[in-house]
Amino acid sequence: MSPVLELYERKFVVGPFQCNCRLLACPTTGEAVLVDAGDEAGKILKGLQGVEVAPGVPLQLKYLFHTHGHLDHIAATREVKKETGGTAKIALHKEDEPLYANLKMQGQMFGIRYDDPAPVDLYFEHEQTLKVGKLKFTIVHTPGHSPGSVCIRLHEDSQAGSKETLFSGDTLFQGSVGRTDLWGANQEQMFKNIKTRILTLDEDIRVCPGHGPDTRVGVEKRSNPFLT
Ligand SMILES: [Zn+2]
Ligand SMILES: [Zn+2]
Repeated sequence: MSPVLELYERKFVVGPFQCNCRLLACPTTGEAVLVDAGDEAGKILKGLQGVEVAPGVPLQLKYLFHTHGHLDHIAATREVKKETGGTAKIALHKEDEPLYANLKMQGQMFGIRYDDPAPVDLYFEHEQTLKVGKLKFTIVHTPGHSPGSVCIRLHEDSQAGSKETLFSGDTLFQGSVGRTDLWGANQEQMFKNIKTRILTLDEDIRVCPGHGPDTRVGVEKRSNPFLT
């Protein structure tokens, strides 16, 4: 029997806000997604350079996914797309387009200069599924932290069985939840979405937030002080 290939995964912690940017690649085809290219394009590009997900299988970046449009999740997208050949599709929920398009203005609030972002290629829809090699992603619209905040479910099927991971952006963190004092935020809506669209998932699912350490659905359900 051939060895069971696992998801190829790498995390880059980037920028002054320490955003978790993640590379997720199909172990069979090398097709890949980068989630939240938030800053430090050079560090991310260096991390992508020459990667082989398996011997002789080079990385092919297909998508640049964004959990939402805050600067710390989008600021390196333009450069990463350009420097990886320009073919990766930029994906975001349409309701965060006003944030995304105003990257420059978001930067000015912190005294950081940015170029205008590259155009969005694909708008996420609630319950949309996207296949990347053998990886299957499902978009869960969870507005509240921002109008277009999404969580991204990843389903992996391998000989070892199926596994699921949830990329929760700035909606749910280990022991905390997203802030709701910024443009377009809605606290009531965020709590409702966490309860109905995240905590209803299988308790064993690994949750990878946009900042800080990973957790599990069941752990947050039982011990997150904002949710109990
Ligand atoms: Zn945010
Ligand atoms: Zn953030």
